[in-house]
Formats: sequence, structure tokens, C-alpha cells
Amino acid sequence: MKPTLVLVGRPNVGKSTLFNRLTRSRDAIVADIPGLTRDRHYGHGKLGDKPYIVVDTGGFEPVVKSGVLHAMARQTLQAVDESDMVLFVVDGRQGVMPHDKIIADQLRQTGRKIMLVVNKTEGMRTAFATSEFFELGLGEPCAISAIHGDHVGELVELALSGFHTQLEEAEAEAGKYPKIAVVGRPNVGKSTLINTLLGEERVIAFDQPGTTRDSIYIDFEYNRRRYTLIDTAGLRRRGKVFETIEKFSVIKTLQAIEDANVVVLVLDARSEISDQDTHIAGFILETGRALVIAINKWDGMDNYQREIVKREIARRFGFLDFAKYHFISALHGSGIKGLFPSIDAAYAAAMAHLPTPKLTRALLAAVAKQAPPRGGMSRPKLRYAHQGGSNPPLIIIHGSMLNHVPETYRRYLENTFRDTFQLEGTPLRVEFRTGH
Ligand code: GDP
Ligand code: GDP
Repeated sequence: MKPTLVLVGRPNVGKSTLFNRLTRSRDAIVADIPGLTRDRHYGHGKLGDKPYIVVDTGGFEPVVKSGVLHAMARQTLQAVDESDMVLFVVDGRQGVMPHDKIIADQLRQTGRKIMLVVNKTEGMRTAFATSEFFELGLGEPCAISAIHGDHVGELVELALSGFHTQLEEAEAEAGKYPKIAVVGRPNVGKSTLINTLLGEERVIAFDQPGTTRDSIYIDFEYNRRRYTLIDTAGLRRRGKVFETIEKFSVIKTLQAIEDANVVVLVLDARSEISDQDTHIAGFILETGRALVIAINKWDGMDNYQREIVKREIARRFGFLDFAKYHFISALHGSGIKGLFPSIDAAYAAAMAHLPTPKLTRALLAAVAKQAPPRGGMSRPKLRYAHQGGSNPPLIIIHGSMLNHVPETYRRYLENTFRDTFQLEGTPLRVEFRTGH
């Protein structure tokens, strides 16, 4: 599991600036997607070969009330409880504020690992910038400037130093059975869907979670195929029924998405698409997981209402156009059977083996049909393609002058590969490597 860093602090101390810096390396993936780059709260980062997840709790806070009693909202506290490392951000120009002390007290009580981050210290001497923050009792403060990036690398290095994430291990262990995560914001019907699913199917194994942080993994069969369901809703088994005890958890959701092969994103047809839906969708896209969208509570809606919902989803979730949509009623069980062919197809596409000769043939055919445009004095030369990874499939194109290939042409190739290899339901990544 990737470690999760959770950013906590008063408004305006620089959490979202730091968030953007911590997730910058992965931003290219979501950079040109309208509605996704601004105001994100969940993202990926990487330091060397160490990946991590970042959560900015700034987005969880209700508009700050005048009092300081609500120093941290319930969702923030929950994220803190489930974090691997809390980065408590304070403002080095303002100094210690009363609100900081309250947050510090609350944080200390959680017993989580905490780093005190003094931001906005560009141009200040470190010792001077941090001295007064020792009184918060959270150990030695780290002085950074989120805006300029000063000491942010060291901060992350320190934050991750106790964690050994082994990507390969997780990836090798995957791929036994398709791992499906059912995710969505609270009340969209995840538990209802899982109950309906498991009520009909043969449940093979059901692990009780070790700690509140753990998601539950449930092995089950459907149509004589085996799957592992990653539950984020906090399910407990009671006889034949499953009941939900805990409430929605952002970090469990993010971890489940990370660990899944296919994500089923549940949306509620009866309420508007919210920022939380979009943030989860953005995280899925960034992670590169295969995706099936289930629009729930479709029962009892007339055609006119359905049409409005369809249009709204197409408008807001245009960036997920690789995913299949299903209109379901988790409560009545309708439409659920239809999810599985899409899950299977998305899994197959995500795990597809794409041989170099076939990829290269498809590449050269695409180039013959439409050559890449000249970039300045030179025309890029695309020579061959090979597969660099799966879930999501990564296609690496080799040649020369490839840094001149425009984004539109990259998309053209992506679509060509998608069509040629019938890669439905998964994001696809196409990268260029110039050799010498
Ligand atoms: P948040 O409310 O905690 O997410 O804070 P923001 O990231 O929105 O930042 C609040 C303000 O502080 C913005 O005007 C930022 O440009 C500014 N800011 C953030 N980081 C730094 C920094 O390192 N130095 C300075 N001088 N300003 C910063
Ligand atoms: P979760 O928080 O995502 O796990 O959502 P729940 O499964 O707890 O469902 C939230 C509420 O929506 C409950 O009152 C459910 O009975 C209701 N609900 C779930 N699925 C459906 C559905 O397909 N149709 C209707 N009408 N209500 C549903």
C-alpha cells in the first residue's frame, strides 16, 4: 500500500499550494482535463521510486465558523486517523495562532505520526522561522516554501523515510482474480449494491478487517467466475446479510482504488453530481484504473428525468468517456447483471498483453494514414512501439524528434491503439521515448 500523507491546517496557510507541488509530477495526466485540475483534494505523488498519496483536508472543511471549537471537521479527523503521516501546515509569517494550538492538541491526541510544516519561509532564516513553533509540542518543525518549492523534497523524503513501499510486490500479487472496488460518495447506494450482489452470489471468503483502517476483501463467484471485491463501506457479516457499520472514508476509498483492477464508480441518479464525485473520478483517472460507472437509483424515474441525468453525466464526466455506463437499481437488483460483462471487458483490456510486432504494425499503419506534423525544422520519426505496463496499459513509442509530437497526435495514436486492440473500459497511456 502506498503511504498516505494528509495535509491539515488552518485556511490560507498554503495547504493547496503544497498539495499541488506534492502532486505535480503526476499532473500531466490530468492537466488538460477541464474541471479536474483546479481544486483537487486527492492526488498521487512520487519521490524517486517512492509513490505516495496526498489528501488535502482543506476541501473537507465546512465554511469556517467563527468559533474555534470546530477546529477540525469530522471528516478531517477521520482522514487523520487513517493517515500514515499528517503534515500539519502552519504559516511562518503569521507565527503561532490560537487556532494552531487547538489543532495541535487535537492532533496529538490521535496518536498518529505528525510532521509540523512551517510554510511561507522563503527568504527567512530557518532557525528564526521555526523557533516559535516548538511550543506546539510536535517536535522539530520543517521550514518550507510551498510556492517556491524550497525544502519540499526534503520534507517528503523525511515523511516517507519510515515506509517501504514495494510497488512490484503489490503488482505481482494482483492479477489472480479481478479485484473490484465499489466506490462512491456517501449514500449513493454502495452498501445496497454490495448486499444485493453478495446476497445472490456464492461468497467464498470474507475477511474481517484487522483495524478500522483496513478495507475488507471478499472473494465471490459470479457466473462461475471468481472475483475479489474490495469493500470501502465498512461491511460486516451477520448471518446471510451484510451490514455497514462505519461511514464513508476518503482514505479507504483511495486505497481501494489503488489496489483494484477495476473500479465500479457508483453515482446517484437522484442527486446532482457533486465535487466529491468529481474528485473521486479524477483520482480514478489519475490512478489509471479500469472503470465501470453505475448510475444507481434508476428505479421510479420517468424518461424525462432519465434523459436529464444522462446529459448531465455526459457533460460533467466527459473525461471518462472510455468507461461504460450502466443504469441500475441496487435496491431492486435491476441492471446489476449487466455490470459484469463490462467489468470483465474492462479487466481484460486493462491486463491485455500487446505484442511488440502488433503494436508496431498498428503504429506504422496509423503513421501511414496520417503522419505526425513537422515540429520546427524537423519531422518526428516514429519507429516502433512496445508495451511498458498494464492496468493501465502503457504503450511506449520509440523514434526520434519525439518531443515535437503534439498532444493532438498523441491522442490520435491513443485512439488508434484503443480501436485496434479493443481496449474498452480502461485508460490508456501513450508515451514517447527518443533514442539515439
Ligand atoms: P490553503 O487555504 O491552506 O489551501 O492555502 P492556499 O494554498 O490556498 O494558500 C493561501 C495563500 O498563501 C495563497 O495566496 C498562496 O499563494 C499563499 N502561499 C502559499 N504558499 C506560500 C509560500 O510558500 N510563500 C508565500 N509567501 N505565500 C504562500
Ligand atoms: P452508501 O452510503 O453508498 O453505502 O449507500 P447505502 O447503500 O447505504 O444507500 C443509501 C440510501 O439510498 C439508502 O436509504 C438506500 O435504501 C437507498 N438506495 C440505495 N440504492 C437504491 C436504489 O437503487 N433505489 C432507491 N430508490 N434507493 C436506493
